[in-house]
Amino acid sequence: MVALRPLAKIWMNGRLVDWDKAEVHVLSHGLHYAYAVFEGIRSYDTPQGAAVFRLKEHLVRLENSAKVYRMKLGYSVEELTRAIMDLVKANGLPESYLRPIAFSGYGTMGLSPVGAPVNVAVANWEWGPYLGAEGIDRGIRATVSSWVRIDSRSLPPQAKCAANYANGALAKMEAAAGGYEEAILLNNEGLVAEGPGENIFRIKEGVLSTPPASSGILRGITRDSVIRFARDLGIGFQRTDFTREELFTADELFFCGTAAGITPIREVDGRPIGSGDYPVTRRLQKLYEDTVHGRIDRYREWLTYAR
Ligand code: PMP
Repeated sequence: MVALRPLAKIWMNGRLVDWDKAEVHVLSHGLHYAYAVFEGIRSYDTPQGAAVFRLKEHLVRLENSAKVYRMKLGYSVEELTRAIMDLVKANGLPESYLRPIAFSGYGTMGLSPVGAPVNVAVANWEWGPYLGAEGIDRGIRATVSSWVRIDSRSLPPQAKCAANYANGALAKMEAAAGGYEEAILLNNEGLVAEGPGENIFRIKEGVLSTPPASSGILRGITRDSVIRFARDLGIGFQRTDFTREELFTADELFFCGTAAGITPIREVDGRPIGSGDYPVTRRLQKLYEDTVHGRIDRYREWLTYAR
């Protein structure tokens, strides 16, 4: 959670408007029925100035989320790329969290969004690591949620729809009430899915694993980067389901996501994970930090520079 500090501009429906003028009507359809798809992206300070990490992949995922919900964005990936770069420049922050959102707006009411206009906006703000800088450093304490992860037969987890986050919020609030920093959600099969806003990885005997896309997860872009890093570093990797008890017996566990970065999990439901060192996680963390900050040539194509 972060208290918002206003910046100069928000991009809304094709133009930059003053932060305070980016308003919507209380009868906007998306507000009532969570008919909204969105993204979470970050810009980072690099030796060549502010750069957005894996922008194309995020915007393609936004397009795909809209497709699932029969929503017409009205802007191409190229147009949204321009919008985001204009916003980054206008607000002047080298490092920020960016939030593109498309939602059904004001005009008609009732469950179907047909007839309501689609509004598209992008805002950014300052946001440190989602699970805290201390969490990145020392690891966090997590709990297995009593709430089950949404399932593609009811609410497709691979489409990043606002409605999904009611499920995540229930898990997050339950975890917080129990004194934990984050929740781990199991899927309908009782297998590990993900956190409310992060994918999860397990390391056992030097091999990295993460649940497959079919396990009720969002196909994370950080997850994809971590898989590529593992390959490039020669770390063994498997896309495989694991059980709740395999959380407890892991050598290392970590969450990853645009907001959370790579955050080690040091304890699950009171059981310490591994030895408390995170040697594999630390290697991946370092490579991730170096990559997003433009210090590694090999991954430079993942950065879009604000020019
Ligand atoms: N799972 C969920 C449910 C999320 O909301 C996020 C954040 N978008 C992630 C995983 C991680 O995805 P990414 O690495 O693309 O940010």
